[in-house]
Amino acid sequence: MKLLSIVVPCYNEEESLPLFYDEIIKVTNGMAETYPELTFEYLFINDGSKDKTLEKLHELADRDERVRFISFSRNFGKESGMYAGLKNAKGDFVVVMDADLQHPPAFLPEMYSYVRSGEYDCATTRRISREGESKVRSWFAMKFYKIMNKISQTEIVDGAQDFRFMTRQMVDSILEMSEYNRFSKGIFSWVGFKVKYMPYENIERAAGTTSWSFWGLFRYSLEGIMAFSTAPLAIAILLGLLCCFVSLIFFICAIVSAASYGDNPAALALTGLILLVGGMDMCCTGILGQYLAKTYMETKKRPIYIASETEVEYRERKSAAGKESE
Ligand code: UDP
Ligand code: MG
Repeated sequence: MKLLSIVVPCYNEEESLPLFYDEIIKVTNGMAETYPELTFEYLFINDGSKDKTLEKLHELADRDERVRFISFSRNFGKESGMYAGLKNAKGDFVVVMDADLQHPPAFLPEMYSYVRSGEYDCATTRRISREGESKVRSWFAMKFYKIMNKISQTEIVDGAQDFRFMTRQMVDSILEMSEYNRFSKGIFSWVGFKVKYMPYENIERAAGTTSWSFWGLFRYSLEGIMAFSTAPLAIAILLGLLCCFVSLIFFICAIVSAASYGDNPAALALTGLILLVGGMDMCCTGILGQYLAKTYMETKKRPIYIASETEVEYRERKSAAGKESE
């Protein structure tokens, strides 16, 4: 038997939860018929909701023993919710999805078929349209992915979402990244593994409202840049070098004007001097920044490598396949 954990972070989802539960039960019942080896657990994370989400979860837990939940003492944010879910999920496979049906449960059978085949370790959806989103927001999102992919070694796929169907092995790797400031889009990509991207059109929330404001998203994107890149710390070096270069031009101008026209070069030379000192100062700050960047990355204590297979798993898999074919 294989257990599939369905992890659902919820914040003020009293209206969506019953809809979500009905839908997920429909889909997972269908999956249980097609794949008799599958059993399910539904792990909801109540992220300090201010509405009746917790009451709804109590009702669901009374009705269905496969329903589990963790209720936070306050709102910690979706990232913390996902972490708690992954940490506590018991499944051989884990899927993380939103409660508002924007991550349609109907994708689950196909996702499972990819992961089950052994060809992929993770199946996820990728938005190919940003229908229903404001132009400004789409523009910022596009720029964010551009900048992020330029300055960070971790590739972040445009439109990739937190709707992820993963093997236990991938989940354990994600949990090994125990950093406090979590940016899941980056973490999912950092751990590697073979990922199947399934294109889909954006759909509206089933009920309730989004908890993301424009500024909330903006702050989150800065968080992402800071978690996966130390490039901003190098800006001081570049600016410093630029100042030094400009100061050189001032010195040349001072010499030329004194030599050819007999002008007093004091003003030009003084400006050059200020720029030179300022530039050198910024370069030194930038160098400090580089050491800080190294220390920053060390403090995250990320795993140094993640193996996807060794001979042990290979042999186990081979003998299991042999037994099956007997
Ligand atoms: N969520 C959460 N904690 C928060 C904000 C959101 O657990 O502080 C959950 C929310 O209940 C939903 C998912 O994260 O299941 C995505 O949130 P939302 O739909 O508001 O974001 P959007 O789809 O607009 O990006
Ligand atoms: Mg949503």
